[in-house]
Parts: sequence; structure tokens; C-alpha cells
Amino acid sequence: MPDVFADLVGQAEAVDTLRRAAAAAEFIRADAVLAVTTTAGGGAATVPVGGGAATVPVGGGGVAGAVTVPVDGDVVAGPGSTSGSAMTHAWIFTGPPGSGRSVAARAFAAALQCVRGTGCGACAGCHTTLTGTNADVRFVVPEGLSIGVGEMRTLVLRAAGTPSGGRWQVLVIEDADRLTEAAGNALLKSIEEPPPRTVFLLCTPSTHPDDISVTIRSRCRVVALRQPPADAVAAVLGSRDGVPPDVAAWAAAAAQGHVGRARRLACDPDARKRREAVLAVPRRLTGVGACFDAASALIEAAEAEAEAAVAENDAAERAALETALGAGGTGRGAAGAIRGSAGQLKDLERRQKSRATRAQRDALDRALVDLAGFYRDVLTVTMRAPVPPVHTDVAAMASAAADRWTAEGTLRRLEAVLACRTAIDTNVKPRIAVEAMMLALWRG
Ligand SMILES: [Zn+2]
Repeated sequence: MPDVFADLVGQAEAVDTLRRAAAAAEFIRADAVLAVTTTAGGGAATVPVGGGAATVPVGGGGVAGAVTVPVDGDVVAGPGSTSGSAMTHAWIFTGPPGSGRSVAARAFAAALQCVRGTGCGACAGCHTTLTGTNADVRFVVPEGLSIGVGEMRTLVLRAAGTPSGGRWQVLVIEDADRLTEAAGNALLKSIEEPPPRTVFLLCTPSTHPDDISVTIRSRCRVVALRQPPADAVAAVLGSRDGVPPDVAAWAAAAAQGHVGRARRLACDPDARKRREAVLAVPRRLTGVGACFDAASALIEAAEAEAEAAVAENDAAERAALETALGAGGTGRGAAGAIRGSAGQLKDLERRQKSRATRAQRDALDRALVDLAGFYRDVLTVTMRAPVPPVHTDVAAMASAAADRWTAEGTLRRLEAVLACRTAIDTNVKPRIAVEAMMLALWRG
């Protein structure tokens, strides 16, 4: 059985940090228990965090035998210990898309709940965490464009409780960059005065103030993941998914370090078809009309991809809510319950619409990254740069383009694609941004 960090591809340094932290966390826990046994049923571990001190009663009242464990820097271990370690209560996982931010957070959460070591991957603690059924580990996955304050308050409150498994309460916030300001403040309050047995794991693309507030950042330790090298991604596709070496190498390069994307390209024919359509765009731009056609095709493909991704989930959610609200019931109360539930259904529809918008943007962004990769390949051919191409399968097309375009022209095209991504990110209507990009690509 591979341990919980096995899914983190090409991140040896981060894994090392997390393993040491998990070992330290185990020590803090064990030490607290030790305090109880040595004082025969009375003891407390005092855990000063970020200036304030929180007292953890561990088995009874009394302060005799208290263990002091400062956790806002490197942990200084309790009396009599030799462990100079690295556990803290708030973490930020950063890295480019696909580098495994949420994979890392989940693995670390499992390592903290592991009952056999620091993430064996096989015990009940590891297993329940990885499958999302551990009562002490909560995952916040934003369904829409942002995480609201109401949701955050509820989560923070629940995370403050005593861990039912006796270890840690872990709150994993994927896409913490989508916190609303109010939600961020609710979270900050809790991180500033953390409950003694609560660990916060935040995932964001970077520690730039656009992604995470400076004050939250200042309270967290950062684990920076890097873009995994293509050969590491290819190796994992081969060993875990049984992908043949040549396909794995192609998919790893084409996915530009995005492990999940590489796996989809290697295993999903639809994903391959969509990519091919995107890479055909540069050839199709023969005039203004063709530009608008290409823009429409790109937008519609993203919509279709997003639709497919969320449709099943949407239907299941709606059915579950309707059942919960008593749809199909025949009793006298049922009709009234349905009338009163209109608001909840509307709320669900609003969340689903927001999620669909997000999925569309993600799909469109993937297409733009593929397209940018092509222009980057053309530029490397022109400049004779000694780096491998992103899209090995359309290398001939890139060479042909390199013969026709100047380096400046190719660079302008690459910049047009990147500008389109930025525009969509700042809420320019996708169709407008993509049309402007296509025209710029055609003009060169
Ligand atoms: Zn385990």
C-alpha cells in the first residue's frame, strides 16, 4: 500500500516538510497524553499560538504537569523531549494549477489522522480522510465563484470542536483564493486565535495579495509546490494508470505539468479531441469572419465540456433535495412542504449556475493554455531554443509557422492569448475577450 504522499508527483521537498510536521504533530499529541499519565489523571497542555494562549485540558483539571508547546513558529518540544520539529496550526499550499495543492492538503490531513505513523495510507485514519469520510476532517470545495461568509462561519465553528477521534480537527479549504472578503475575515479570526486542536489547510495558486490576504498569509506556514517535471508526470501515468510510455510522454508534455490534465489526455478520447480542435485554431484564422467563427467554436466547446462535467451532479443534487423536501409525498403536509421549499430549490439553482459558470471558465482557460503552448513552441523554433516542445504532435505545424512569422509577430500572438486569459480573469465577458484575441492572432 503506497503511503498518503504517493500521489504528489515530483514534490520531494514539500513531502519532506509535511512528513516532519506530521511526526511533530504526533509528538505534541503523545506528549499531551503523557502529561495526563504522569500526573495521574490531571493535566493540561498549554498551547500559545500567535500571542494568545489556549489551554487544552487533557483528561481533567489541574495545571500540574502542563506541557507548553508554542506552535506559531517551529515547535519547541515539551520538557524532556528531543524533537525539534515543524508543526503549526495553519498552512498554505501554493503552486501552479495541477501541481497538486489539494492533493497535498488532503495527504497532510490524512497524515495527521494516521493512527500508525505519519500517513501509512492503510489505517482507518488515513483511509477515512482520503475518502472524505473522516468526521474530523472537513473539505471546503467552493461550488461557485466564491466562498461566502455564512458557509465559512459555520465551518469555522464546527472545526473548533474537540476532535472526535482524539487527534486533530482539520479544515481543508481548496481554492482559498475564492474566499469573499467577509469569509476571509471570519477565517482570519479563527486562525488568529486557533482552537487548540484545529489545523487549517488552505490552498491557493500563490501568496500574492490577490489570492490570499496578507494578514492570513502572515499567520500561516507556506508549502510551495512546483510544476512537476514532465518525466515525473509520465512515470506516474505509466505506473499508476498503466499508460504506455510513448502516450504518457506525449500527454505529460502536452499537459504542461498538470498531472490531472495529463491523465485525462492519456485516458479520455474526448479530451484529446477538444485539444486537437484548439490546436487547429491558428490554421483556421484566414479572415475576419473566420476569427469570429473560431471564437464561437472555442466558447461553445468550453460550454459543452462544462455542461458535461456538471450535468450529472446537478441532477443528482436536485433529486436529493426534492426527496429531502418531501417531493412525491401524498400526505396533506406534502403540498405545503413543497410550497415552502421553493426558496431552497431556487438557492440550489443559483449555486448550480454559479458552478457551471466556473466550470466553463476553467474549460476555456485550459483551451487558452493549450493555445499559448503552441505559440510558445513556434517561438522556441524561431529562436532555436534548446527546450523540448509542449505539443510534440503538432511540431511540424509549429515549424511551418516559424518559417512564416517573425519572432516579434509570434510573441505578439502569445501575448494576445495571455491577455485574453487575464481579461477573462478580470470578468471581461469571455466571448468578447476571445473574439479580440482571435483578431489579434490573425493580424499577427
Ligand atoms: Zn495511517
